Order: sequence, then C-alpha cells, then structure tokens
Amino acid sequence: MPVEKTLVILKPDAVSRGLVGEIITRFEKAGLKIVAMKMVRATPEQMERFYPSSEDWYRSAGSKLLKAYQEIGVDPRLRIGTDDPAEAGRLIKGRLVKYMTSGPIVVLVLKGNRAVEVVRKLVGPTSPHAAPPGTIRGDYSIDSPDLAAEEDRVVYNLVHASDSPAEAEREIKFWFREEEILD
Ligand code: ADP
Repeated sequence: MPVEKTLVILKPDAVSRGLVGEIITRFEKAGLKIVAMKMVRATPEQMERFYPSSEDWYRSAGSKLLKAYQEIGVDPRLRIGTDDPAEAGRLIKGRLVKYMTSGPIVVLVLKGNRAVEVVRKLVGPTSPHAAPPGTIRGDYSIDSPDLAAEEDRVVYNLVHASDSPAEAEREIKFWFREEEILD
C-alpha cells in the first residue's frame, strides 16, 4: 500500500527559532495530513532508546565525525581521545541525546502517498550546508558537520524524519499510543 505514515520530530532548534509553523506548513502544502502531534520535553533515557545503538550506526556516524575533524585539521586522538569510528560514533550519540533534550520538541505523525520518502525529500540531506534550496534543512539552516565538530556538538538540522517504513512503524509506536493517532 503506497499510503504510509511517517514520524517527524521538530528538533529543539526548530522550536527555539520559531520555525514550527513554517515547517509544518511545508508538509501540509505538499499534501501530507497530520494524524497525531504533541510537544514534549524528552528525557535522556527516552532519546537513548529512540536513536539506534547498533555498531553499524556508531561506525557510520563516527567515521563522519572523524572526517569532519580531518577537514578542520584537528587530531581526533587529542580532541576526543580516539580515532576509532565506533568509539567516535558513541560520542556522537551522546552529543545527539544532549541536543535532543536541550529544549522542547514537537513530535508528529504525517500520512500520505509514500509519506516516508516524500518527507525525507522535503527535509533534505543531513548536513544543512549541503541540503539543496527548497528543502527544509537547506532553506532554514547553514550548519555543517565540520562547524559542529569544532563546537563539540552534532549538526543542528531542525528536523528528524523516519528513514524507512519499518523504522516509521517503530518510531510512531515509540511516541504515540494507538488511540492518539487520529487516522
Ligand atoms: P538523519 O537525521 O539525516 O537521518 P542520522 O540518522 O544519520 O541522520 O543521524 C541523526 C542525527 O545525528 C543527525 O540528524 C544529526 O543531527 C546528528 N549526526 C549524526 N551523525 C553526525 C555527524 N557525524 N556529525 C554531526 N552530527 C551528526
């Protein structure tokens, strides 16, 4: 069935910058329907459980962090005490949890034809500096992983969106009870 539901989180930078309305409008204008929504202040425990803790994720996120240090000419062994991708990935996860719990977030479920893929397309790639104009990350942020590495934080990119229908199902269940989805 091409009609899907997907989970979106407006991250603390979207809320603090007053971009909640703008961002939701973009999804609605594309034809996606809001079927659930709430504002929450997530706990570190919640965010630890929400984001993946697989070795694959750690290695992939960690190698990007190591690359960012390389770009700014910083020796990761001196800065974070390791040049092992999995170790660097665990550090990224900690920074991500810190970011996602630094202020209120808005969690919503969007429904529509191929919603998972369409929402990822509207949001754009992870790094705002490389996200094309017309995407949410490209239009509302100029942050980048090298600047974030310089400042010992993750990249502030405004929005989280599920990256597959299977992840969407898990993530929707994580935040909403069945009766909270007004489908
Ligand atoms: P996306 O949100 O685009 O699906 P991921 O799921 O890989 O990206 O990572 C989750 C979030 O963690 C990203 O949106 C970003 O905020 C942060 N992040 C992940 N990897 C890095 C990295 N190497 N450098 C900076 N921030 C990162």
